[in-house]
Order: sequence, then C-alpha cells, then structure tokens
Amino acid sequence: MIKYLGRIISEGEIFDGEVVTDGGKIASVTKGRNASTDALCNTIKDFGGAYVAPGFIDIHVHGGGGSDFLDGTKADFVTIAALHASHGTAVMLPTSLCCPDDELFALFDLYREVANSDYDGASFAGIHLEGPYIAASQKGAQDETYLKKPTHEHYDKVLKAGKGIIRRWTIAPEVEGAMELGKRLKSEGICASIGHSDADITTAGEAVKNGYTMLTHFYSGMSTISRKNGFRIPGLVEAGYLYDGLAVEAICDGCHLPKELLQLIYKSKGASKVALITDAMRGAGSLSGETILGSRTSGQRCIIEDGVAKMPDRQAFAGSVCTTDRLLKNAYNLMLDGYLEGDARLCTAVQMLTATPASLVGLTSKGHIRASYDADLTVFDNNFTVLTTVTRGKAVYTK
Ligand SMILES: [Zn+2]
Repeated sequence: MIKYLGRIISEGEIFDGEVVTDGGKIASVTKGRNASTDALCNTIKDFGGAYVAPGFIDIHVHGGGGSDFLDGTKADFVTIAALHASHGTAVMLPTSLCCPDDELFALFDLYREVANSDYDGASFAGIHLEGPYIAASQKGAQDETYLKKPTHEHYDKVLKAGKGIIRRWTIAPEVEGAMELGKRLKSEGICASIGHSDADITTAGEAVKNGYTMLTHFYSGMSTISRKNGFRIPGLVEAGYLYDGLAVEAICDGCHLPKELLQLIYKSKGASKVALITDAMRGAGSLSGETILGSRTSGQRCIIEDGVAKMPDRQAFAGSVCTTDRLLKNAYNLMLDGYLEGDARLCTAVQMLTATPASLVGLTSKGHIRASYDADLTVFDNNFTVLTTVTRGKAVYTK
C-alpha cells in the first residue's frame, strides 16, 4: 500500500489529509493525519502543501510529444501517454479522425496491445471516434475523402472490430442514418456526441431524443444562428445552451475560446455539464516551433505560437497543443473568474477535469477520490505545476 499526504481535493472540499492506495484501487481517504496506518504502507509520499486531486481525465485527445494516435506504432501511443502524464493526465480516450477503415481497425488492435501492456504514461479508458459520419460543411481539418454515411452495414463492422473499447463517438446527427445510430450507441452504453455538424436546433432536439448527450468541442465545427428569408434559425451552439440533455466539451486552452465565452459556458451549463478537453494534436507539449497537422508523411506543416498551432498564413488555428495542467489553470483564472473564489474555485475547476468527464462517458470507478475507486491521482502545486501523476496505483510521472 502507498500513502499520499497533502491537501486532498475531494467531493467539493479541500483538506489536509491522506489517501491510501492498495494496488490499483483507493483503499481509504482520511481527513487529518492517521499515523496508525503508516506501518501498513510500504511507501509514504508527503506532498506537504501541494494538492492531491483525482487523476485528470481527457476524453478528447489526438496526440502530443510529436506523435498522433493514427501514426500507427506502439511507440507513438506511449509517447503521447507519457507526454500528457507529465502534465497531469492520468486517463485519456485516444481519439481518431476520419480515416480509411483498415487504419481505424489497426488503431483498435494497437490500442488493445498497448492498453494491456506496462508503460509509463496515462492509462486508456476507451477510444473516442471523431467521425467518419460527419458533415462535409463542418469538417474543419478532417479529410473529406474519408467521410461516410452511417449505414447499418458500416457501423456494425466498426462496432464489432471495436467491441469493448469504443467509449464515445462524435457524429453529425443530420447525416442520414445518424438518429438510428444514436439509439444503437445508447443501447450499447457508448456516449453519442454531436460534432462537426450543421444541424439546426430542431435536429439537435431530435438527436437528444435519440440518445445524443454531448456536444463535441463546443463552438468549433458546429452551426450557430443563421437566417432564412429573414427568420432566425438557431443552431447547435444555441441548442447547447437550451437543452439540459446536452453536456459540452470546452477546449480551455485560452485560445480557442475567449475568456467571456468560457464564462458564459460555465454560467449557463454548470460544472456538471462542462468537460474540459485538450483536443490536442501532435504538437502538444511544445509552446513554439513547427509541427505537422495530420499524417506525418502527407500532413501539412504548421507553426506553434501563442500557445496554439496555426496554419502557416496565421489566419486559422491548426489545432490545440494544450495539456490538462493548462486546462486547469485556465479554468481557474479565466472561466471561473468572477463566479467563485478560493477553495470552491479550485474544486470546481478540478471537477470539470475529473468527475464530470468520468460521468459523461460512463467511467463509474473514476473521477473521485473514494474508497474502491481506481487509484488515479494528480498532484500539483500552487502554480498548477504537476508534481506526480498516478494511474491505477502506479506513479507514471514524477517531477
Ligand atoms: Zn478532435
């Protein structure tokens, strides 16, 4: 057993205390110091005034450290998992892009191989499929060549190949067949999320009735108010605010969404309906220099500056290079500014990186420091610098 001492962030409060882990699980969490259990622990790690939080969970991430999950090797998976662990991510959902089926199925095979191996990095809690059933008009950086219609035949094949590992699927609900797929995913316990979509608010309401529960990267790759013959037609952004049945993802890198929109999102949805995500591409972990958008061989060179990847002409973003420590810092400094203070502010920022994403994608033993939950912990100091990241009881990063 291992004992962690520090300022524990748990269930909406912060207290000096200790967490004891036993193998991959949390054995106990106690307020104050309980020296009587010291003898039971092989190791006691005293973090003093630093915070011990539930392990950060990133439900939307493509890459980091120069690698993308679709690069197709075990080394790339491990590089990404290690890079993000060094910034606080304990658990991640490797996220695909629209690609040929054989590449997607190779990704599933690789996922299984790596997830069951021993490596130093964030652990994987299932795959997030971003496409291929999305709208060409909102494809963003995705390759249009690989967009598909959700036919029974196709998604049966994908669901079979990805049995037990697909946790989330981002789909445009206006594409023919998508409503039926929403019901199917719901019945299989897979989170159906709306994204890369031009659906109007009526279609979004239909989608909610058909099992869709989230909006992928809120504001990015989605419709907003348009006008037809003078009449306003609300889109997905407005649906996100109106429907309680839709939770939202926020790329809280401080670039994709300005402070005021982050505040509006928090004010309207509340912490239980907002998951902070990195949506990071391979450039994550670098704050300057060059990176590649898309495939290493045929992708496009782009530049990293101002904390974000930009197209060479600097007219558009090429993706986020964010990490979860930055999400936490921005949620605290930008999103929650003016709404909460002190411990409540930090607890709420942590909640949107732990309990909320866990509950939205059905990770029932993660997101909290509770006895019998998975021993996932992120320890950070007053400057949001990560000191250690623990996943399933194992320290996979130590500063
Ligand atoms: Zn993405």
